[in-house]
Amino acid sequence: MVQGVNTAATWYEATARREPVDGTVHGKLVTDVCVIGAGLAGLTVALELARRGKHVVILEGRLIGSGASGRNGGFVSNGFALGIEEVAKHVGKDAARALYDLSRTGTEFVRKEIAATDPTLKMGDGWIVAVRHDDKGGMKAAAETLSRDYGEEVDYLPANETRKLLVSNRYFDSLRGPKGFHIHPLRYCLALAKNAKAAGAQIFENTPAVGVSKQGAHHVVKTAAGEVHAEHVVHCVSKTGKSVHALSDRAILPVATYVAVTEPLTQSSIATRMAISDTRRAGDYYRLVDEGRILWGGCITTRVSEPSRLAERMKRGMLSTYPALGNPGIDYAWSGIMGYAIHKMPLIGRDASGQWFASAFGGHGLNTTAMAGQLMARAIADGDDAYRRFAPFAPRWAFGQLGRLGVQGSYWWMQIKDKRDESRLFSRR
Ligand SMILES: Cc1cc2nc3c(=O)[nH]c(=O)nc-3n(C[C@H](O)[C@H](O)[C@H](O)COP(=O)(O)OP(=O)(O)OC[C@H]3O[C@@H](n4cnc5c(N)ncnc54)[C@H](O)[C@@H]3O)c2cc1C
Repeated sequence: MVQGVNTAATWYEATARREPVDGTVHGKLVTDVCVIGAGLAGLTVALELARRGKHVVILEGRLIGSGASGRNGGFVSNGFALGIEEVAKHVGKDAARALYDLSRTGTEFVRKEIAATDPTLKMGDGWIVAVRHDDKGGMKAAAETLSRDYGEEVDYLPANETRKLLVSNRYFDSLRGPKGFHIHPLRYCLALAKNAKAAGAQIFENTPAVGVSKQGAHHVVKTAAGEVHAEHVVHCVSKTGKSVHALSDRAILPVATYVAVTEPLTQSSIATRMAISDTRRAGDYYRLVDEGRILWGGCITTRVSEPSRLAERMKRGMLSTYPALGNPGIDYAWSGIMGYAIHKMPLIGRDASGQWFASAFGGHGLNTTAMAGQLMARAIADGDDAYRRFAPFAPRWAFGQLGRLGVQGSYWWMQIKDKRDESRLFSRR
């Protein structure tokens, strides 16, 4: 158990095959770079560094991909957890465009890595984001902005077109992005780990880092039974364990979200294999996976303990959108923890003592962890400073418990607004 979250088996675990890695650290190990955390961020940094000839040791507190990286929705698309127009309000349009382009390098990294390693990791192409009330042309305007200002390939679908794909009167207009795709995230994590090992990295599972200190030019990362001496340390632990990096840890709030997977189904409500989500703050995200199962995600909350009757709760959400599904069985249900900074942008940088951090990817981590992994590796191996583009989004204290309460309050407020928009619409009928 981590932070009270039930780590019950997921559909991803049931359909992946783990291979043994390097045991645990005993005594003293010397390396170029020690990466802490084997989620997508840590694995990508390690792989990219190993490919650049660096010797890398990865310390993972539990198992590879056992954090958000191996339990998520699997959607890979450009952008960040913070909408790009919000990013532009902080840093201006040109800087936002440059950041959006960086986020695209993350999507392309995942695409290329999968194509070169194992094309079956990709489970479908394209995404749809639908609105659940009449937004008076908002989606059309969003399509124009994304295409004109950020070069995103995106189509606008009016309600009648949307409902041919998502057969539910809950939906109205939508955007369709043909270039996004969806994957099996745990198998992808395991593939990254295998590639990193093949490139020379060592990976130690069930080996949490318990402290970091400086000895001369080296950082010393302590574990229960040993220590790793490294020229560089990279913290990639999100909010899923005990961080040993106070600066980034204090700046991240844990946010839980849930996923359920149905039994194999024959159905005609979801008539597309694209990855689907809606624009509500705590909206649904779902897709068809193998054997006609629906993988259904939803809800966000700062309460990190798993709610009781999670499977029933997820099923209720699914049926409120698609009553025609009848009474499908739920074979799997689980929760996952995302790390969010107060500004909702990733924390990517280096602290005053020289330690690197890449964390807080929120609900948009599949492309941004890949982007960050490349930025970190280029910075460490080649002295490249493109990672500094994230300097405007430096770690800021997230106010601990108080911050969680504040964020939960804002989620409730937005959920009330979302419900009000929908109910106005239904009461007008
Ligand atoms: C249910 C769910 C659905 C999501 N859906 C999507 C989606 O469809 N698309 C998308 O882009 N994003 C999605 N996300 C977000 C995405 O999964 C995350 O942003 C991303 O995986 C974060 O990766 P990470 O490597 O930073 O963190 P994590 O994957 O959480 O990895 C951190 C790792 O650090 C380890 N660790 C912690 N402390 C220590 C320590 N002291 N020593 C050693 N190791 C330690 C943990 O065990 C863990 O393995 C979703 C997230 C969740 C939870």
